[in-house]
Amino acid sequence: MWPESEGRRGPNEVASCLFDYMKERSLHCVKEIHMFSNNCGGQDRNRYVAFALWFARNHLSLSKITHTFLEKGHTETENGSIHATIERATKCLKLYTPYQWYTAVRAARVSKQPYKIKEMTAKDFVDFKSMSNNVKSLAIGDDGQKIMWSRTRKPSAMKEDPHTIFLATAYGGCHECEVFTCGHEAEESEHNWKICTKNRGHHKFIPAPEFHLGHLPEWARHSSVLEYVQLVASLTVRVKVTFTSCERPEGYTFHNYRGSPCTREASGFIQDVYPGRGPCPCRECKDSPTPPQEWFWVNIETACHVVYDTSEAQFTEVNVFYDDENSQTSGRMKTILALDTIIKDHDKDFCALRCATHDKQLSRKILQNKLKLDVIVNLHEAKLHDNANILCVIVSHPHGCAKTITVGEIERFIRDDALMQVRYTTDTCPGSSGAPVLVINFRKGDSRPFSSKGRGLHSETVCVEGKTLNMSAEFLTSFSTNSLNFMAERMQSVRF
Ligand SMILES: [Zn+2]
Ligand SMILES: [Zn+2]
Repeated sequence: MWPESEGRRGPNEVASCLFDYMKERSLHCVKEIHMFSNNCGGQDRNRYVAFALWFARNHLSLSKITHTFLEKGHTETENGSIHATIERATKCLKLYTPYQWYTAVRAARVSKQPYKIKEMTAKDFVDFKSMSNNVKSLAIGDDGQKIMWSRTRKPSAMKEDPHTIFLATAYGGCHECEVFTCGHEAEESEHNWKICTKNRGHHKFIPAPEFHLGHLPEWARHSSVLEYVQLVASLTVRVKVTFTSCERPEGYTFHNYRGSPCTREASGFIQDVYPGRGPCPCRECKDSPTPPQEWFWVNIETACHVVYDTSEAQFTEVNVFYDDENSQTSGRMKTILALDTIIKDHDKDFCALRCATHDKQLSRKILQNKLKLDVIVNLHEAKLHDNANILCVIVSHPHGCAKTITVGEIERFIRDDALMQVRYTTDTCPGSSGAPVLVINFRKGDSRPFSSKGRGLHSETVCVEGKTLNMSAEFLTSFSTNSLNFMAERMQSVRF
């Protein structure tokens, strides 16, 4: 405790008190300290307090210090009850000097041991702020990505790596939309495909119509697997958005484009199609005096960072059957316009868009493929097994170009609270955001060749130990999760 004349209520004071406590604990032979706090950026969740952890780890005999920020809305900590007890006990007291507060707080708890108070003075406060600035700028992580301190979940300092602060973040990788700058999207996307540095030459991107059994590893060559991938491909769409919502929060993907017309292309998946009632609500029929009565809803899944809300959905078009370069000129590619978003989940990076179409031929074709896919999925519904061979297949529109299929492996299943994600070696490029990610799993001796239970949407690309890996949004599955070895969080680090 300290009066206003001795110090402020900023990160330096918070960090100094924590340092002081850790020092005292380390003298009592404590080796590990785990701290929990709420998310106040001005006091706890910032680079200076994180720096103080690292400093304490290196100057005190502690082997590990972690600081966990509780989920917003679930931040009830012990401190809350301490504050309430003090408030109750001092409500009727007349306190004249700041120093009387120390006594009042010490006496606040009567039933249990009294609270211990450490009286802080100005000289006890260490200027961690300028110390950290002298050591290293804590704005950029080792992976070259900007550190979003407001999203950090758990900074930690460990004995094994004394020069590093490890940071687990809620999200913070790079989105994979193709963003256009000049207004000639087709030319620009062709150009970006040629100059792409993430996957030079795109050798592993197989044009969807050319995909055959030989593209699968030998143990996965079953005609039903091929059919499964082809049906998913037929329901994969290109999503083109030309407006960015004013509602995107500060720091969220594309927040700097808020309220402006900027074109981006990504991928999506037709999750459902069903007949609608009344007059067709599609944008074409809106002003028609005789709108058709027979029409369909088409629901599209994509990433929330691609289409954030209804204001963006109203500027979104969906290209179905964009299978090869000739699809556009031959008229095989069909375009439907979105009306609104029916589900949007910022944390799970998931969005469901609703489109309406009165094109009967198109909706019939989509419906047929959807029914065939449902049959396959139900037939191959099973739990994910240990020691199984797992394949990870993605269908997407890289750089906004025609549909491609990439095949790779699962690197890791990641579980973070209620969120389940997968990380894979399967190639993706800008334009792959929102693309269906299929996890296909095989077990020797099983009468059914594979299980298809598990599907996610591609969300971002992350750099882990110098390796570029791609990662899904919320992964939908029913398989038993405890049979898998999960890593708790995604790690970012800053090395001094
Ligand atoms: Zn590329
Ligand atoms: Zn219509």
